[in-house]
Amino acid sequence: MNVPEFVEKIRKNEINIVEHTEKIIEECRKINKEYNYFNTISDGLALKQAHEIKKLIKNKDKSIQNKRLLGVAVSAKDSICVKGVESTAGSRILKGYRPLFNATVIEKVISEGGIIIGKTSQDEFGFGSFSVFSWFGTPKNPFDKERSCGGSSGGPAGIAKKANFPHISLGESTGGSIAAPASFCDVFGLTPTYGRNSRYGLIDYGNSLDKVGAIGKSCYDAALLQEAIAGHDPNDSTSLNAPADDYTEIMEKPVKGMKIGIIKEAFGKGNDKSVEKYVNEGIDRLKEEGAEFEEISLDLPIKYGLATYYMIATSEASTNLAKYCGMRYGAVEKLEGSFNEYFTKVRSANLGDEAKRRIIMGTFARMSGFRDAYYIKAMKVRTLIINEYKKAFRKFDALVSPSVPILPPKFSEIEKLTPLQNYMMDIMLVSPNIAGLPHLSVPVGYEKNLPVGMLLTGDHLQEGKLLQLGSVFER
Ligand code: GLN
Repeated sequence: MNVPEFVEKIRKNEINIVEHTEKIIEECRKINKEYNYFNTISDGLALKQAHEIKKLIKNKDKSIQNKRLLGVAVSAKDSICVKGVESTAGSRILKGYRPLFNATVIEKVISEGGIIIGKTSQDEFGFGSFSVFSWFGTPKNPFDKERSCGGSSGGPAGIAKKANFPHISLGESTGGSIAAPASFCDVFGLTPTYGRNSRYGLIDYGNSLDKVGAIGKSCYDAALLQEAIAGHDPNDSTSLNAPADDYTEIMEKPVKGMKIGIIKEAFGKGNDKSVEKYVNEGIDRLKEEGAEFEEISLDLPIKYGLATYYMIATSEASTNLAKYCGMRYGAVEKLEGSFNEYFTKVRSANLGDEAKRRIIMGTFARMSGFRDAYYIKAMKVRTLIINEYKKAFRKFDALVSPSVPILPPKFSEIEKLTPLQNYMMDIMLVSPNIAGLPHLSVPVGYEKNLPVGMLLTGDHLQEGKLLQLGSVFER
């Protein structure tokens, strides 16, 4: 049963929402034992919500007609705050932290009738591309348990694929963390325009880069959740004051005549051959529907994207993480010594190696004497990258490339990667994120039973066009 059919049945009281919710919680527990997609299953909250919905249905409350997610299970990446439910962002330094408020996107999901079933596993604070940097276990690829789900939203993408009940995931991307795992798990991952969805209540990684987005088994599911969470939020000063679009309606429009640029530098050297083969098939599929393609050179984003991203992202992360001192939230050690001694003790014990690496790199990039050469320079290159994209979008409706250059790797292969090789995985993804552009990873094929994703990038606030193109791949 797909999401709209399910919602209809709930409205008509043909499914008992409480029994259904009990069943899917059991199912999540079972899946979790094998695949580790959840840090926390929020059974108490989910059942409470189910009972509330049951009451609305029993009373024939008018509001149920407008609730777009009525009874649909929604999971949230662990970095998205859910009131009263442990929210750690995958870090031991936040162990035991139960937010006193909901993130705005959670409030919106709840008001649309969505049921919050749990907090999904991720790299610590979003630092990573394979979800192996988590304190609470690594999510396993739904196609092969020896392989990665991608990261950092590995849990969200994994459960989006594996759930055998109507369900949509909330993920987060700073530099590719929605598209990469969506590609490795064979699902649709939509990263919206920066500011399109509220960041209020998102445990931050890099404030000028973070976006909450939807991951769904179908393009429709991703569009529906995006529609539910979009819009201005007075609690987030960076959220855009632009009306939300009707994405599920826009995506039905034909793609005939749309102009798409094939990013020249994203093909050829460095890609797994099978990845290119299926991305090219995806392009052919869109051609059959009447979309028009032309090659375009995007030199700067591919050449300087990674260096620029890692300077900006780590600079912001290193300041953001300063608030985790072992006194305000989460992990607390025995209070002794001076503040510096205590601060050092708590952070040494409760932050992982990758988080420490990023703090050191970001602090270095911002230090007086280096700031101009690294952080400020990266900010200037960021503007050049934005300009290059903006020029391309004068001509094109969307740009296309592989989402990730490789197939989902084995954990044993990931262990051998140096940090730099690790960062290289996001080569196609960091630049759309730096520029705050919406992008969608769509499944385009399988090589030896492993999925391949294709990346569509659009101009600011053009999520609708991407979903229009994406919907071709579910027909
Ligand atoms: N892999 C990238 C990083 O480690 C992106 C992570 C993200 O988008 N949260 O920074």
